[in-house]
Amino acid sequence: MAKDSATLDTSSSQEPSALPNLELLAAQCMDAIAWVGADMRFIYISPSCKKLFLRSVEDTIGHHIAEFVFPDDLPIIAAATRSVINGEGNAITATIRVIRGDGSLIWIELNSRLMGDAANGAPGDRAVTMRDVSDRKALEDELRAMAMKDGLTGLANRRAFDEALVAEWHRTVQEKSQMSLLLIDIDFFKKFNDAYGHQTGDDCLRSIGAALCSGSDSDCVDVLVARYGGEELAIILPRSDSFVAATIAERVRAVVERLAIPHGPSVGGIVTVSVGVATALACDGGSAEMPSALLASADKALYMAKTAGRNCWRSSLLLAAVR
Ligand code: GH3
Ligand code: MG
Ligand code: MG
Repeated sequence: MAKDSATLDTSSSQEPSALPNLELLAAQCMDAIAWVGADMRFIYISPSCKKLFLRSVEDTIGHHIAEFVFPDDLPIIAAATRSVINGEGNAITATIRVIRGDGSLIWIELNSRLMGDAANGAPGDRAVTMRDVSDRKALEDELRAMAMKDGLTGLANRRAFDEALVAEWHRTVQEKSQMSLLLIDIDFFKKFNDAYGHQTGDDCLRSIGAALCSGSDSDCVDVLVARYGGEELAIILPRSDSFVAATIAERVRAVVERLAIPHGPSVGGIVTVSVGVATALACDGGSAEMPSALLASADKALYMAKTAGRNCWRSSLLLAAVR
């Protein structure tokens, strides 16, 4: 029977082809391939390092990898090395920034695999491949920023707000300090939409969002202005006590009033906002569950501002559990 043409002919006595030229292969490879010693110094690196690091092979071999890694990213390398030492696997993948020969930074993805143990039983030399992923990282950052932004106002969206609130509370606990939250609600906004149309309502929301950014920026750093939902906006004030929070609440109220957007049925015939302020103090003995209690407290204060006649702020204070 004729041999199936798809079947590999293993009966051939043909000699295996000559070994490929590995130097040539490494030189042509877009990724840089390196041999890094147990002392974290380059023993070998392929010529692509010129494109990647903007440094010659000679100027790389013998040098410690810490010379190339952006200092903020050194802990990533240290953590990965620790996981290898702890026996959690002998290969790691990490995305870090590298300082190039001309001082510029690029993002690289590195894959590192142990080649064996050192004589003393510690992790030994590693085979490392490195690839420039700057374009991919820029795109990822852009997508992440878009996913965190509210499409209408350009402010941080609810997801960004939720993440920031949790992160800020963790910091507050660590520092045993305090933080504040402002919930801002437009007064009689339904009537505004009814009178001027939804499109003008959207424009009004955008104007108020921009005004809040300018009205809340000077007194504390890392302030986050977000669209909490619908016509409610929120401001997270890191490291702020109730006095700072009240000052900013008043500034926010006044800055919206100064926009003087006409609104017949509202207070004074212009668009106004009511503000609920809550400050949480992280302290032993506190019982409030965070960050949900901070939100509930700000919401309650907002309700009090509404019932007090609108275009005003009310505040509350919590002693929050440190856990
Ligand atoms: P109050 O002073 O008690 O807050 O009265 P209000 O009318 O503002 O409160 P209510 O919650 O009854 O109405 C909120 C309105 O906000 C209803 C909704 O049409 C409007 N709104 C929510 N999101 C948007 C939006 O994205 N664009 C526009 N134009 N309107 C919105
Ligand atoms: Mg509302
Ligand atoms: Mg409202």
